[in-house]
Amino acid sequence: MYRSHTCGELRIEDKQKEVTLSGWVQKIRDKGFMIWVDLRDRYGVTQLIFDEERTPKEMMEKASRLGREFVIQATGEVIERESKNPNMPTGDVEILVKELTILNSSEVPPFTIEEETDGGEDLRMKYRYLDIRRNPVKEKLIFRSKVAMEVRNFLSDKGFIEVETPVLIKSTPEGARDFVVPSRMNEGQFYALPQSPQTFKQLLMVGGMDKYFQIVKCFRDEDLRADRQPEFTQIDCEMAFVEQEDVLNIFEDFTRQLIKKVKNVEVKEFPRMTYADAMRKYGNDKPDIRFGMEFGELNDLAKNKGFNVFDQQELVVGIAVPRAASFTRKEIDKLIDWVKRPQIGANGLVWVKYNEDGSLKSSVDKFYSSEDLQEWAERTGAKPGDLILVMAGGTDKTRTQLSALRMHLANELGLRKADEFAPLWVVDFPLLEWDEETERYHAMHHPFTSPKPEDIKLLDTEPGKVRANAYDLVLNGNEIGGGSIRIHDRKTQEMMFGHLGFTPEEAKAQFGFLMDAFQYGAPPHGGIAFGFDRLVAILGGQETIRDYIAFPKNNAGRDVMIDAPAKIDEEQLKELNLQITSETE
Ligand code: ASP
Repeated sequence: MYRSHTCGELRIEDKQKEVTLSGWVQKIRDKGFMIWVDLRDRYGVTQLIFDEERTPKEMMEKASRLGREFVIQATGEVIERESKNPNMPTGDVEILVKELTILNSSEVPPFTIEEETDGGEDLRMKYRYLDIRRNPVKEKLIFRSKVAMEVRNFLSDKGFIEVETPVLIKSTPEGARDFVVPSRMNEGQFYALPQSPQTFKQLLMVGGMDKYFQIVKCFRDEDLRADRQPEFTQIDCEMAFVEQEDVLNIFEDFTRQLIKKVKNVEVKEFPRMTYADAMRKYGNDKPDIRFGMEFGELNDLAKNKGFNVFDQQELVVGIAVPRAASFTRKEIDKLIDWVKRPQIGANGLVWVKYNEDGSLKSSVDKFYSSEDLQEWAERTGAKPGDLILVMAGGTDKTRTQLSALRMHLANELGLRKADEFAPLWVVDFPLLEWDEETERYHAMHHPFTSPKPEDIKLLDTEPGKVRANAYDLVLNGNEIGGGSIRIHDRKTQEMMFGHLGFTPEEAKAQFGFLMDAFQYGAPPHGGIAFGFDRLVAILGGQETIRDYIAFPKNNAGRDVMIDAPAKIDEEQLKELNLQITSETE
């Protein structure tokens, strides 16, 4: 028996018990006549004591040879500590060791394995198994497991069945590149790893499963923007015989219950906003609505007043920054520099200080009277003490830029509180999205999303105006889930592929299996998928998903611990009939 208790378990009530603990040596204090060892496992830390007067000599010697991260087993008596540590759950007691076994030794670890570490990100990733021993990392993995459990509990209570779908498939277009896997047995042919189980979950609905879910790995070969992973986890769900309203209701409950269970926070409201409104009010399809700062469009107020810069632009739009009228010239200049950086790419910012005394002072006083500026204040919802910031330019671009500024300021001013949860359904997404590069329309969600029946007539004339039965669940400025009601008949699906630029032959070659299935009694169906890594990170109060993944990849998509991706043997290449034609060393 390696242990009778864990290292997080013993309390003063256990005094005088004989116990055996196993774990890792976190810290050693050796005073010669007395040695203290902090012994750690997943559950906590317990102090061991070796004392010249009470511990046999050879055991004192053995203890003095211990090093950090040695794995040991210690048997002894629980005694009351002389100097207690109120910061440790086990801080009232220590173990007077009678027997000590070294189960394994350890090299000196490359960084300290404590709450705070001296190890940089790269080093910690290379030795991730050591990083996982650290409390903050360990706690996050335990938290993730807890959230997964709550997800399964809720969904199975509601009658959802967890079904696994294959990982070696044919590509599903979800907007990213596929990872591909060569097939040895089918020369020259490749599997693709699923970007999501989308078509399979739809086929499960055709198969009559009615309610499906799966906590599942998805793979997308994207240029990794900050905080994306090439493989990530979804809570993937699908239901038959549902309309949009049914899906929204059940997943509203799901999210509410999850937040209640893991955070003990009651979220009442799940407001809904159309995509068009979200773009108009926040310049963003995943607005953080925890703080105001809604956009105020100023075209009618700011144009044609002699200020050329605005007159030529498609959109003039502003926000009121709460209590920021006191910003110094220097602080405002810093914001102007911030928006001019290439990442944002704005030309500049016009500012208006709405002073506490009600007076207005702006960078464009030459062109606008106090009364004009007063109207801007009303439009942007500014109150005395606020700072109004205005941008102008092409509509889409300006909205994006002002949205970035809004988020930047909210972060700087501490308006995004980790313990406040503000969900929002964004609905009525456009079905199609124009892609400048390829000069054609793409499905904004995916090609299986159904258009709103009343908009179908616009497909031929104004495809960009067609709205989809698609929805996103946004939480604190993050898209945590997205889904749609699907097309479930062959004709509409064929038409959809046509609008996306597929020839009938191409559509058949790629998605014949799905369209065939639709001919055998496909029920109306729809669903949603949540980004599990992100959801866990937000519930955990952090925004980086990497912390919540046991073995994440770095920004270049590499696993630096196992050193992947890597070359394969000449033999393997031959077997797969593959040839590497160019090599960059
Ligand atoms: N498959 C979709 C996605 O990965 C989600 C859905 O439509 O259910 O975004």
